[in-house]
Amino acid sequence: MWAGWWLWALVAACAGQTYRQKAETIMQTTPVIDGHNDLPWQLLKMFNNQLHTGADLNTLAGTHTNIAKLRAGLVGAQFWSAYVPCDTQNKDAVKRTLEQIDVIHRMCQAYPETFMCVTSSTEIEQAFKEGKVASLVGVEGGHSIDSSLGVLRALYHLGMRYMTLTHSCNTPWADNWLVDTGEDEAESQGLSEFGKRVVREMNRLGVMIDLAHVSVATMKAALQVSSAPVIFSHSSAYHLCAHKRNVPDDVLQLVNATRSLVMVNFYSDYVSCSKQATLSQVADHLDYIKKVAGAQAVGFGGDYDGVTRLPEGLEDVSKYPDLVAELLRRNWTEEEVKGVLAENLLRVFREVEQVKNLSRFPEEEPIPQNMLGGSCRTQYGYSGAPGRFPGPGALLASLLLSWHLL
Ligand SMILES: [Zn+2]
Repeated sequence: MWAGWWLWALVAACAGQTYRQKAETIMQTTPVIDGHNDLPWQLLKMFNNQLHTGADLNTLAGTHTNIAKLRAGLVGAQFWSAYVPCDTQNKDAVKRTLEQIDVIHRMCQAYPETFMCVTSSTEIEQAFKEGKVASLVGVEGGHSIDSSLGVLRALYHLGMRYMTLTHSCNTPWADNWLVDTGEDEAESQGLSEFGKRVVREMNRLGVMIDLAHVSVATMKAALQVSSAPVIFSHSSAYHLCAHKRNVPDDVLQLVNATRSLVMVNFYSDYVSCSKQATLSQVADHLDYIKKVAGAQAVGFGGDYDGVTRLPEGLEDVSKYPDLVAELLRRNWTEEEVKGVLAENLLRVFREVEQVKNLSRFPEEEPIPQNMLGGSCRTQYGYSGAPGRFPGPGALLASLLLSWHLL
């Protein structure tokens, strides 16, 4: 009996090793493209964004991400999150977003042998060939544009290739997921008219529309308005964990119909709806989204360094090969595995690039006359320009005007 048990254990161990080896072989040529990593936020919190005198990314400790772990995890491309909290909305969100984009650019400058800042699908493939981690900018939250299409365009020119329409707060033009829990009021019933213009302008620029963090009504509105596939950069399946941050089945059907992509979030609370989760439960989400939306609709969006709890077996960015081995054990084909690793994101990105049409005239947004002096701020911002907060010039003019009136 003991001999039988040992034999069984040996066979199981060998099979596990085989799946892991096969995973690594596939990942040598098709490494991970992950949809969402908050290392830049950690760099701000821990080092005030100082790279030369502060953080050493080779050996960084106390984070889920460092260069050694990225290499061990066979990560080939990362959308780094340029995140600023919701309490910066209508205050200094734009400035602070620029600072987070700047620190991503400086990561590429400081570690050129590892990171390669890129802005296109072909450049991601080039980085794969050069053995570098393609580094892209995802702006997490529409509050970062301060209701300005001009700011949206400027962020595109700084490398932004996706924008999450909201973080966990409404913008003046899009509702967030807390509307679905009843904690926030619906203000735009999904997307306002201005919100639809934001989506169209993102299509025109070739910026992916990210629907992580938005309400279900916003998901549906954006899926209807967008002329290109969209992504969920870090969201899981609502059917397996009924958290409002996750994607419900009827939206997964729309994801299928629009050739869009759900990059599964590893945060334990979204995976198992509890503080504990396992790698196997993350694989369940991947299986489920594959079943409902199709194998072409699945990706990884680990949310590393943006969350406090991660599943057993997926503790940091070095663990992706173990997850891929689990998918192989579950009979995912090599083609499906390459899809979830990188090909699905590359396909969506290419379609977004094909829809892009910079020769079309930009959406214009006249700056209201009343911004030039005096305070005409409404509940949602200046009339005519939702959510606009006065810049330094307008503040100065306003100050001078009130001083004069005194
Ligand atoms: Zn997030």
